[in-house]
Amino acid sequence: MIKKLIRKILGTKSKARDTSTPVVLGPDAHGIDPRLLSSNAVRVTSTLQEAGYEAFVVGGAVRDLLLGVKPKDFDIATNATPEQVKRLFRRAFIIGKRFQIVHVMFGQDLLEVTTFRGTTLDNAPKDEHGRVLRDNTFGSQAEDAVRRDFTINAMYYNPANQQVLDYHGGIEDIRAKTLRIIGQPEARYREDPVRMLRVVRFAAKLKFTIEPNTGAPIAVMASLIDNVPAARVFDEMLKLLMSGQALACLQQLRKEGLHHGLLPLLDVVLEQPLGAKFVTLALDSTDARIHAGKTVSPGFLFASLLWHQVLEKWTAYRASGEQTIPALHLAADDVLDSQTEKLALQRKIGSDMRDIWSMQPRFERRTGKSPHKLLEHLRFRAGYDFLLLRCASGEIDAELGEWWTAFYEGDEATREDLIASANQPAGSGGAKRKRAPRRGGRSKGGAEGGNAGGNSGGDGGAE
Ligand code: ATP
Ligand code: MG
Repeated sequence: MIKKLIRKILGTKSKARDTSTPVVLGPDAHGIDPRLLSSNAVRVTSTLQEAGYEAFVVGGAVRDLLLGVKPKDFDIATNATPEQVKRLFRRAFIIGKRFQIVHVMFGQDLLEVTTFRGTTLDNAPKDEHGRVLRDNTFGSQAEDAVRRDFTINAMYYNPANQQVLDYHGGIEDIRAKTLRIIGQPEARYREDPVRMLRVVRFAAKLKFTIEPNTGAPIAVMASLIDNVPAARVFDEMLKLLMSGQALACLQQLRKEGLHHGLLPLLDVVLEQPLGAKFVTLALDSTDARIHAGKTVSPGFLFASLLWHQVLEKWTAYRASGEQTIPALHLAADDVLDSQTEKLALQRKIGSDMRDIWSMQPRFERRTGKSPHKLLEHLRFRAGYDFLLLRCASGEIDAELGEWWTAFYEGDEATREDLIASANQPAGSGGAKRKRAPRRGGRSKGGAEGGNAGGNSGGDGGAE
């Protein structure tokens, strides 16, 4: 206690810290509630320990436990090699190339078990920018701690004796809400540029302050992200967007100058009044879903982020003479092509995005069987939620969203009434529709996607 006080008074220079031995904290000092621990995490650590190995809960889970938050997953660190770990569990798989880890499964629950890493990266293969390509040298726990990204992510918890081992002042940084990289920041970002994205994510998600030395090199080194394989950038972007603080993360990304090249034109989108409102609403609703414990589909998320790019291109293709639907498909192709390379959008996500976008003009058709057919679409719910966002952002008339809500929730008789009222001239049921010249049961506007159709909100305030 006194030692800690003195250290506090003298200031905690990380360079002066002895990082080869940990500060050990007992339950009274760290205050972790053991009930927040998953039984499977305890199962893994105790199985390893009974077999004679060291085993700890590590990383983000310890950080969350110390913050009093139930961790969403548990990583385990051990001195057993991947082969030795694998032998102890019935369903265990060695995965990974860059870092070999073991996935231990219990039913649906997956735990990642990593062997303590060594510090000698000198001989590890690197790309021409210094990024470490492969590294499977094992080491001591102290070495493993040095290899982790932030002080708050480098603590080890042993459920058996309830001790926390802290090598880098993580506890103090947790208490001061400070995000501090371990080691020399430039070198750490060079080894792995994804750490710059992680700074942004953790700062926004935990509402921590970035320690000045940790933040300083990011603006200069941001372009190193370009050399990281797209799939890894995508994984990290997804984590960022699903962190429950998506908007804060994107704002922070922009502040740090990291958004360039991640989602090309995202900055432009955020600067357009209509685009900004749409993206803000979409991210707010994503955050709300995460906080409510609901799932979020990556397809919906990316469809939202890129919608205003699609709209712009859609409008341009129509202006050059394309019909509404083909123009929308061309716009979707352009946007997906330009994003796929950088973001490694998986095929499934791309096709979900296309489904959501191409459903939009179909919401304008409220005649005959069209609304019923649309309701049967496999991804109707996503398309409908997307429509509501467009209404809420002021891009299209709110009446269309209200009509669909009534149709979606209504019984068969209500639905027939709604279809009838939508096809009547203005005045009935409060629906303000332009009287369109009827030609073969279809208005000209209808064939072109209706009066609210996708011309960037031009009709939104036209009442
Ligand atoms: P989350 O709550 O988002 O899962 P996390 O800290 O657990 O946060 P993970 O990506 O699950 O993040 O990584 C687990 C741990 O592995 C981290 O806490 C950190 O110690 C270490 N780690 C992960 N990525 C890196 C990296 N790029 N460089 C160094 N250490 C890393
Ligand atoms: Mg984790």
